[in-house]
Amino acid sequence: MISVKNITKKFGRGNSSLLALDDVSFSVQDGEFLVILGQSGSGKSTILNLIGCIDSPTSGTIIVDDVDVTKMSDKQLCVYRNKNIGYVFQSFYLEPTFSVLENVAMPMTIAGVNKKEREAKAMKVIESLNLTEKANKKASELSGGQKQRVSIARALVSDPDIILADEPTGNLDSQNGGEVIALLQQICNSGKTVLLVTHNIDDARKTDIMVEIKDGIISNIIENDEKTKIAAQHSSDYDNEGNLIDKNKVEEDSKLENINNNEKIDKVGE
Ligand code: ADP
Ligand code: MG
Repeated sequence: MISVKNITKKFGRGNSSLLALDDVSFSVQDGEFLVILGQSGSGKSTILNLIGCIDSPTSGTIIVDDVDVTKMSDKQLCVYRNKNIGYVFQSFYLEPTFSVLENVAMPMTIAGVNKKEREAKAMKVIESLNLTEKANKKASELSGGQKQRVSIARALVSDPDIILADEPTGNLDSQNGGEVIALLQQICNSGKTVLLVTHNIDDARKTDIMVEIKDGIISNIIENDEKTKIAAQHSSDYDNEGNLIDKNKVEEDSKLENINNNEKIDKVGE
């Protein structure tokens, strides 16, 4: 379980300081899919960076499996990040001239794992994400959707418990974006905890818990039910409340509206 308690994050000092997070608290159980939803500048990446221990809070605690990660030494943090965290970013951060295999194996290269072992492990994840035929292609030769799959493979290669995905659909069209969210859902179903950051309400509705943030303050925490999640998978078929739209009725309504409009035009013309 990840428990974020009364987190505050201030950037800068004195008059020019900015309170990016103001008393933020929420928790996510192991194996849950949580989304942080908010507009640009609301503090989403800041929260993710604190949970991923890329940055430290001004005050408050973040407890991961009974350990306060905000109190860890640099050495402990390094171990924690390698073992527990897989990061996925909006702009992929792949090494363009490296092959897919080399990119996916990168975290193990950094960790000093020997070539044979890291390639075997990377290949296993590549196969599980249906990227086998791309394994020897350069990252620069892939489409956006494929690049994001590779970056997800890289996040999974060390078998971390937690996946942090910061706007992973931000550079993708809606079809590829939808596939990335479905993949994150699958990863969650395999037992990992997934934290997604997005400003896309349709993506947000597909998760278990939705934490809404505005100007660094949590404004709402909503548990999405099955109906909402299914509705979000087919968002064009459902209205904002998650109710199936009766397309025949919509057609009838729009015909009626056209007739009414024509009548109005006729009246104006009279
Ligand atoms: P989001 O990811 O929701 O777009 P961020 O978490 O990146 O928002 O940023 C929240 C606020 O904190 C913004 O006003 C941003 O400008 C500010 N901010 C983020 N990182 C820094 C930093 N390193 N130094 C100063 N201000 C920052
Ligand atoms: Mg951001």
